[in-house]
Amino acid sequence: MTTVDRSRLAALHAEEEQRFVDLHPTSARLAKEAGEHLLAGVPMPWMTRWPGSFPLFVESAEGGRFTDVDGIGYVDLCLGDTGSMTGHCLPAVAEAVRERTERGITTMLPSTDAAWVAGELSRRFGLPRWQMAMTATDANRFVLRFARHLTDRPRIAVMDWCYHGTVDETLGVLEHGRAGDRVVPRPGALGPQVDVATTTAVVPFNDLDALEARLAEGDVACLLMEPALTNIGIVLPDDGYLAGVREVTRRHGVLLVNDETHTICAGPGGATAAWGLDPDLVVIGKPIGGGIPVAAYGMTEEVAARLEGPMLGHDIDVAGVGGTLSGSALAMAAVRATLSTALRQEDFDVSVPLAEQFTEGISDVIAEHDLPWHVQRLGCRAEYWFCPPPRTGAEAAAAVDEELDAFFHLWTVNRGVLLAPFHNMSLFSPFHDRSDVDAHTSAFRGAVEALLG
Ligand code: PMP
Repeated sequence: MTTVDRSRLAALHAEEEQRFVDLHPTSARLAKEAGEHLLAGVPMPWMTRWPGSFPLFVESAEGGRFTDVDGIGYVDLCLGDTGSMTGHCLPAVAEAVRERTERGITTMLPSTDAAWVAGELSRRFGLPRWQMAMTATDANRFVLRFARHLTDRPRIAVMDWCYHGTVDETLGVLEHGRAGDRVVPRPGALGPQVDVATTTAVVPFNDLDALEARLAEGDVACLLMEPALTNIGIVLPDDGYLAGVREVTRRHGVLLVNDETHTICAGPGGATAAWGLDPDLVVIGKPIGGGIPVAAYGMTEEVAARLEGPMLGHDIDVAGVGGTLSGSALAMAAVRATLSTALRQEDFDVSVPLAEQFTEGISDVIAEHDLPWHVQRLGCRAEYWFCPPPRTGAEAAAAVDEELDAFFHLWTVNRGVLLAPFHNMSLFSPFHDRSDVDAHTSAFRGAVEALLG
């Protein structure tokens, strides 16, 4: 089995750092200026995590590409980490947004698009009743709150090494000790409001026995999960696992929430529709507004019946769910335009084969060089990882190779291909084409050949 020489990797990385600096003088200047008044020189802290010693500044983006301020064009396989999974700048969204900005953006009254949006989400995900939020994080927070209220149970459950946004209760992982597993703050989680162990149960993905044992304690209101983990690499469910999750949660009176914010890559109704799943609630955010901030959560008639009435009564404005800008006319118009013209089966019929071509290309390089790596795919999302396929989030987390990650990101961006930061994720839109996949495969091959000498 081939291994990577770490001193060679460090030397190549230093060369690529210099190349990045040489290629991007305008971004370098803007980054320096931004450092004066922006904390860490960026408007949002994750933007410090891009490859290179400063972030690229973007001039414009369209379809599956963007151009930076130094005039360099890129194949965008990050697509705003799913926010622009539709492809950048859908004409219908531009038109709907322009129209709404001239006819009223937000009034805190329902707009004529809202009912259409809920109907379309129902058709796609199979859940009949919907509410809106600004972000997937918010939608998850509201769902957790409703679930605790409905069940009168104090804890929520999540998968080990999940990610569901900046939701306090979800930032816990399992620590394995001789006395058994315990829930601890996720490494890196800042300033926890309370000990996450008091709010959250954590179970390993693909482990029905652990789920059964934990839910049997009777204190869990809902299980919030991605049908496949996507935020610690792609970890696919074992055969029968999701059916088992449904059976165990139902038997213990635990509401099952599918967070489809990333797994929408599996098809127009996410993994829920693609795999015939039967959750009590679904959360969807990011791409449904074509880039405009908006999210939604759907529920069964049974959950809706329990929520309506006194729960949505007089005090709902201070209940901890809602948001002044949620469900605005602007957001609803953007979702209507997006779902009318994008994320449809015909769009996935273009993007999924591109992701397949991507995995084939990477698999070939991995096999040719006898590397112990793998590439995984879910719909139009694909990702390579420097280990054999993990079955749990903890296995994936243990295999993270920061040095290799950083090197591949830098190498590919220096050759005009942008991957999603934090991991090696690529997302395909209907605006990409086979030459975009080839551009990445050839950069990946070049990086591997340079590394192995
Ligand atoms: N759920 C999942 C599965 C996510 O991956 C993310 C973000 N990566 C979120 C929720 C949160 O989305 P946002 O940051 O837009 O609130």
